[in-house]
Amino acid sequence: MIKNILVVIEQRDGKIKKSSLEAVSTASKLASETNSSVQSIALGSEIENLSSIAEYGVSKINHFKNSDLHSYSPSAYTKIISEFAIQTGSDLIIIPNTSFGKDLAPRIAARISAGCIMDIIHFEISADELICRRPIYAGKAMLDVKFLSEKKVLTLRPNVFKAEKLPGLSAEITLNEVTSPDLTTRVTEIKKSEGKLDVAEADIIVSGGRGVKGPENFHLIEELAETLGAAVGASRAVVDAGWRSHGEQVGQTGKTVSPSLYIACGISGAIQHLAGMSSSKYIVAINKDKDAPIFSVADYGITGDLFEVLPKLTEEIKKLRS
Ligand SMILES: Cc1cc2nc3c(=O)[nH]c(=O)nc-3n(C[C@H](O)[C@H](O)[C@H](O)COP(=O)(O)OP(=O)(O)OC[C@H]3O[C@@H](n4cnc5c(N)ncnc54)[C@H](O)[C@@H]3O)c2cc1C
Repeated sequence: MIKNILVVIEQRDGKIKKSSLEAVSTASKLASETNSSVQSIALGSEIENLSSIAEYGVSKINHFKNSDLHSYSPSAYTKIISEFAIQTGSDLIIIPNTSFGKDLAPRIAARISAGCIMDIIHFEISADELICRRPIYAGKAMLDVKFLSEKKVLTLRPNVFKAEKLPGLSAEITLNEVTSPDLTTRVTEIKKSEGKLDVAEADIIVSGGRGVKGPENFHLIEELAETLGAAVGASRAVVDAGWRSHGEQVGQTGKTVSPSLYIACGISGAIQHLAGMSSSKYIVAINKDKDAPIFSVADYGITGDLFEVLPKLTEEIKKLRS
């Protein structure tokens, strides 16, 4: 059924993304289930700790190196990965469903005439076929899809599959110096906001919704987040109102998160928000409406006014930590 799996590693500024470790781990489990081989491909210039992905179960790492590959280039990345997939007879390509993967996967699929199933949250082998599950209609329904094509490209929703370390494993890294990547555009500068933790990578998230009443009150969320070493998240209502940036949006059209602790403050718990955070390990909800849907997914609920609860909570946590 599947013979050779290829996992595409995403790096940002030379650092491997957590979602890529999840992809490697998942690919290696699938490879042992299907008795197929697995290798990985990473594009970039210097990539920190590239060999560390071996511990997630991949023993062959192919690094395609050029300073022009430091930032994602659709044309160059598509060409290199597609050619490598054909050359190595890869019949299943696994990519994280980040904005990088969402752009890249269909391009590779088109180039190698593969079927493409995106945003998978689960898959299984049934009657020798790979059946993939993905949410539709804002997570209200699930779709089971199977490939009809021989070659397959799939993307994994971040923070859904586990990145499991198997210490002691090592890998062979093959370095391919790329002389002239096929660039149609070149990134000249990236300006990013300083010092902020990304919700998609954070282990603790404090999120604010419309109950915060305005951007001027978000310091309450930020103070609690800072005390806990957490990232700040937001509901779409808040982002649409321009109170917070889109990068902080959690949910169906925002980021999927799966932290150890998610604190939802003044968020009603609409289905589209839950779609992005309900797999968090512990959920704490602060809402003045005892019937708010967020309480149905919360492990701990505080029915109260966040303007009273948050300062007290922050103060108590500060005391505990001092
Ligand atoms: C196609 C589509 C995609 C979407 N994608 C997303 C998405 O990715 N992420 C997302 O979040 N939403 C998304 N939405 C929007 C979603 O349906 C909701 O509109 C949104 O999540 C509501 O945000 P909210 O909970 O902040 O606001 P509200 O629903 O207005 O809830 C505010 C909550 O604050 C509480 N509150 C008010 N004052 C206080 C107070 N002083 N103290 C404590 N609690 C208080 C209220 O009781 C209420 O429960 C999407 C919608 C659609 C149609």
